Amino acid sequence: MKRRDFIKNTSLTGLGFAVGNALVNSNEDIAKTHKAQNHNAASNSYGLPLVVATWHVKNATAKAMEILQAGGNALDAVEQGCRIEEADAKGQTVGKGGLPDRDGNVTLDASIMDKDGNCGSVVYLQNITHAVSVARKVMEDTPHVMLAGEGAKQFAISKGFEPENLLTEASKNAWQKWKVKAQYQPIINIENHDTIGMLAIDKNGDISGACTTSGLAYKMGGRVGDSPIIGSGLFIDNEIGGCVATGLGEEVVKTVGSFLVVELMRQGKTPQQACEEAIRRIVTKPNSNYKNFQVGYVAVNKKGETGYYSIHQYFSVTKYQDGVNVQIQSDYFNKA
Ligand code: ASP
Repeated sequence: MKRRDFIKNTSLTGLGFAVGNALVNSNEDIAKTHKAQNHNAASNSYGLPLVVATWHVKNATAKAMEILQAGGNALDAVEQGCRIEEADAKGQTVGKGGLPDRDGNVTLDASIMDKDGNCGSVVYLQNITHAVSVARKVMEDTPHVMLAGEGAKQFAISKGFEPENLLTEASKNAWQKWKVKAQYQPIINIENHDTIGMLAIDKNGDISGACTTSGLAYKMGGRVGDSPIIGSGLFIDNEIGGCVATGLGEEVVKTVGSFLVVELMRQGKTPQQACEEAIRRIVTKPNSNYKNFQVGYVAVNKKGETGYYSIHQYFSVTKYQDGVNVQIQSDYFNKA
């Protein structure tokens, strides 16, 4: 089942901010997952190279692993992996076919970060499918970190990206249906979301990450989420590890979530402990209405240990490690 189908089926409340992925793991998958975390005492690592990503994106993790297994680096792996989801017009959360804002405009946010701490991002990018690759060009070919809107689009065109209409018939129809009944209030916790955030460690033990999204469906025009904000939707420190986020970007930005997770790992926490602490910072805020939204973190440390945690409901993570490409359900805060 696709992410969106699950979203429709799992409204948390009447106005619930529904998230997740319905593909439940088989016991076999779970067993394989545990196997994939087996420690290699000789190298003090956990099955490298590895790829781990938000949501059910097995084709994307497979592409990234293909690059890593051929000796490619983690940066190429995360870019190429994310491009698989961006090109999939059936996926309504990323790239082509992404659900539009409330005015019917598809606007993309993306970021990328490499082992040397270089990073690039694009915000409010229109008409260009591969936002993650534009982010990489920003990183490599400009003195800047972030380009927005029309400037980002013109830059992309100057680099040879072809402008195209990203609003598919299916997404247009969904938006038109939404418009009929929407009594839009400028709050974002009733909207749908999904993002691909991907982390990879290559055979040299170097880490890179990327994140790409069409953001919250039916968001206000001009809204930007956490995904292109370095330190919020994505952060890499090659000495320590990396983290990517999905969910209600506003809550991630307010706690600088991915940077927080990496810093917690620097202080000695495992990826799992660090993700749990970062979620705790959100849910323990005064008057947090966390039961009405979702945030999920995926983290990896230098050894190849992984962690994932979310709020109120699980989210799906895809991990490719030790020859196994598997979907996992995260644990979550408030689990009964
Ligand atoms: N984090 C993204 C945003 O707030 C949404 C998502 O994860 O789908 O734009």
